[in-house]
Amino acid sequence: MLRMLLLLLAIWIALVLIRDVLRRRRIRTTSSAPVVTTVCCAHCGVHLPTHRALQHVDGRHYCSPEHARGDG
Ligand SMILES: [Zn+2]
Repeated sequence: MLRMLLLLLAIWIALVLIRDVLRRRRIRTTSSAPVVTTVCCAHCGVHLPTHRALQHVDGRHYCSPEHARGDG
């Protein structure tokens, strides 16, 4: 009977430890900062996130409509 209780206690401790490790791993993966890719303006050379850049038909990226037109 005592052996059975010790076995159940060991299983319970193992489950608690596994759950703790999984929780820590989940926190670590969700707290990492998202990766932002940047491009360089073909006119002035400033770096900006890809989603904020204007892509010209020639494939080059620009920081503003003025620079895409070649003004300024
Ligand atoms: Zn620019």
